[in-house]
Amino acid sequence: CGKQAGEDFIIFSSKMEEESRHRAAIAIDLRSAAQNGQLELHYQPQNETATRGLQGFEALVRWRHPEHGLISPVEFIPVAEETGLILEIGRWVLNTACMTAAKWPDRFSVAVNVSAFQLAQDTLPLQVASALAKSGLAPSRLEIEITESGVITDQAHALEIVMALKELGVSVAMDDFGTGYSSLSTLQSFPFDKIKIDREFVKSLGDSQQSSAIIRSTILLGASLGIPVLAEGVETEEQLAILKMEGCKAVQGYLFGRPQPEAEAERLIDLDGQR
Ligand code: C2E
Ligand code: CA
Ligand code: CA
Ligand code: CA
Repeated sequence: CGKQAGEDFIIFSSKMEEESRHRAAIAIDLRSAAQNGQLELHYQPQNETATRGLQGFEALVRWRHPEHGLISPVEFIPVAEETGLILEIGRWVLNTACMTAAKWPDRFSVAVNVSAFQLAQDTLPLQVASALAKSGLAPSRLEIEITESGVITDQAHALEIVMALKELGVSVAMDDFGTGYSSLSTLQSFPFDKIKIDREFVKSLGDSQQSSAIIRSTILLGASLGIPVLAEGVETEEQLAILKMEGCKAVQGYLFGRPQPEAEAERLIDLDGQR
């Protein structure tokens, strides 16, 4: 399989002056991006380690700018958060991901990222309930991914929101595990259904003893807490083999597929059906 469509982000200059001008320009254009249909969701496969079977997809947002081309979420999500536009974009992401997943066979799930700003509002459970109702997607097929930084500002409030989400029947995953400074205490305070090990640790698997140790401990921790662990950023068969040996049940990464447009994700679903 050759180059995949639509994943060549343009790289902007990092010179600071240019960057702030660039940010301001992004903020103006972003306001209309959602209404003008310039946002796209790409779907990255999540696979079972033992069988390599497809389990579902993580939805990742991209902005197809008419002049600048495909813009990475790393560029515009921070701007969306600063300007409050993340609420509208987040709602669009939820609705679109649920609509798309509702067309897939029942055994496939969809994971959606939710930022700190969204978690800080009271409206998130309502938005999720509405996306589920409009799409007809079973709540058990939706997973909300939150990071530690997303729950750190007002933990009590974030916990309330997470409980309300779980009440709806959706599952909640802890994203980027191990990169924050209180991953363990966050894990203790929140009833997560999944732990996603950050790709930082997977990257050096095989050449660093430390990352193997961290990964092994996280998998053990998940097992003793009864929380499944997924490893992110798996790019090689060697990494997959180590993760499998360590007992990691699920993986996500370029080895199984990049984030890709809906039509290409559907091809992966068809292929999986033929296995
Ligand atoms: P994330 O949630 O940690 O998503 C995983 C990122 O790792 C994605 O980058 C994905 O393309 C990349 N990735 C996956 N597998 C591999 C691999 O094997 N190797 C390497 N080198 N990279 C891999 P992406 O799509 O650029 O997204 C970056 C971040 O933007 C996400 O990190 C997430 O924090 C944020 N984001 C994306 N979509 C949304 C969204 O809809 N809402 C919010 N709030 N944030 C989003
Ligand atoms: Ca994520
Ligand atoms: Ca992640
Ligand atoms: Ca990340």
